[in-house]
Amino acid sequence: MENNDLSFNSKLTVFHSVSRSILCYGAQIWGGVVHLEVEKLFRFAIKKLFRLPNYTSTTFIHLETKIAPMFIFTLKLHHDYIIKVLSLPDNLIMGMLALHTIRNKLFWFKDIIDLINKYSLNVDSCIHNLDKWPDILKNIRRHLTVKMTEEFTVEISKSKLNLGKELSFELGESHNLYSDMKLYKIRWLMKSRGEEINLNYKFYKTIDLNCSLCNTEEPEDIVHFLAKCTSLSHFWLRFFHKATLDFVIPKSLQWLYGKIGSQFGPLSNSFNFQTLT
Ligand SMILES: [Zn+2]
Repeated sequence: MENNDLSFNSKLTVFHSVSRSILCYGAQIWGGVVHLEVEKLFRFAIKKLFRLPNYTSTTFIHLETKIAPMFIFTLKLHHDYIIKVLSLPDNLIMGMLALHTIRNKLFWFKDIIDLINKYSLNVDSCIHNLDKWPDILKNIRRHLTVKMTEEFTVEISKSKLNLGKELSFELGESHNLYSDMKLYKIRWLMKSRGEEINLNYKFYKTIDLNCSLCNTEEPEDIVHFLAKCTSLSHFWLRFFHKATLDFVIPKSLQWLYGKIGSQFGPLSNSFNFQTLT
């Protein structure tokens, strides 16, 4: 996992291969509802891999990695199992019990209805037509993924992040996660976008927020650190060929926040983190 040259997608494949076989044991039965314990492992792994602080928001992790919550995966296992049971001959006890569950809106069938209602999913109302179940359940998962992404996006725009509203997660072909960037670059990018660099300003702090490098008495937040701090201006000169940056937020940080183009502009071409270390 610490290999600098191995892509995020390769690491993700290994992680899912190892974790899902254990974590999702029996998900055919319990996978129809969200279990926080199951969701925690992926978030923990992402925080460890990218050295993110513990307070990194769940919404940021899922939006930035473009990986849906584990629930979507367990839900598919659960749905596939239901379809398999319903395809059994009527005279078998499993099939009979499944039909009884549907007719009386019990257990897993109630969970499906609750899911549709909770997220106002736009799915076929003929849920009692068993022939259509494979397509209906597939539609439930598809609509659910879209709804969850929408909810995450709204949530992060209302979060305590200074630039939460400016964050674009549509980073084009270079994404998932930042294409073939080396691990240490991804870590810095992710921390910058998520405002998780260890600066004096933190949303939960009330004292000692100002920058200790310059004398401007401004809070040392991500904008100050990346754009305004006069003590760091030699970096702007070195990499952007300007002694001062015309950083009027959000416009001037658009290259980082994904609003201009989709390739991280200066980062993928000329910005070389290696020379910073
Ligand atoms: Zn400063």
